[in-house]
Amino acid sequence: MWREAVYLDTKLGRYPRIPYYLVFDEKGRLAGPLGRANPRGLLADGSVHNFYEWSNDASAEVKKGWIMKGDTLEELVAKITQDPQSEGLMESAVLQQTIDEYNGYCAAGHDPQFGRPANWLKPLGTPPYYAMKMLPGGMSTHGGPKRNTRSQVIDAFGKPIPRLYAAGELGSIYYFQPSAGSTLGEALAFGRIAGRNAAAESIRRAA
Ligand SMILES: Cc1cc2nc3c(=O)[nH]c(=O)nc-3n(C[C@H](O)[C@H](O)[C@H](O)COP(=O)(O)OP(=O)(O)OC[C@H]3O[C@@H](n4cnc5c(N)ncnc54)[C@H](O)[C@@H]3O)c2cc1C
Repeated sequence: MWREAVYLDTKLGRYPRIPYYLVFDEKGRLAGPLGRANPRGLLADGSVHNFYEWSNDASAEVKKGWIMKGDTLEELVAKITQDPQSEGLMESAVLQQTIDEYNGYCAAGHDPQFGRPANWLKPLGTPPYYAMKMLPGGMSTHGGPKRNTRSQVIDAFGKPIPRLYAAGELGSIYYFQPSAGSTLGEALAFGRIAGRNAAAESIRRAA
């Protein structure tokens, strides 16, 4: 899902799927909290550190304005298009067609488009309708200059740039993929390599 969301259209030079909108109906709203506290945030005493606790029926989030509400799909689309980030691209007819197709998959108990399991397929059709703006998040950035095994930053031709070192996520060796769980090890290992090699450089004194 994350990879689909961050698809980059290289011709247009933009991310056409950011943001996207999670659309659900009244039954969906009442089915339970939309988000959950991340269990990784559990502290030793069992409490959850600084994570938002979602209301069971999304009423608190509708009130906060995080979730848009419309009595009809047209009304919902009108609210979505007011969001400047939507760039006016959401159209009622297209949304209706998408929902009709999806409801067809629900009736058939088979989703040929995304392969969702049959027990996930709940049809939409009970107003009011809701939409929540979705933006992908990530815990690793990984951009930056390339470096070699000595942690030296290399130029466009693979040659080390004298006296310049990098470590951690800046030019991470995992630049080609999301790498949760491995970057701290890299930061420690290449931080040490970079520090050792930088410390071994001769001292330059101002003339
Ligand atoms: C929620 C979350 C969970 C994660 N879980 C894991 C995990 O389980 N395992 C794992 O391996 N990795 C995990 N990571 C990734 C890991 O934390 C990072 O890869 C790692 O901390 C990167 O280290 P770094 O030294 O490269 O950068 P950072 O830790 O980001 O350090 C950069 C430092 O530079 C400072 N800085 C920025 N700009 C300037 C400036 N202009 N002047 C001076 N200082 C500046 C910043 O304040 C910061 O202190 C997680 C990340 C997040 C956000």
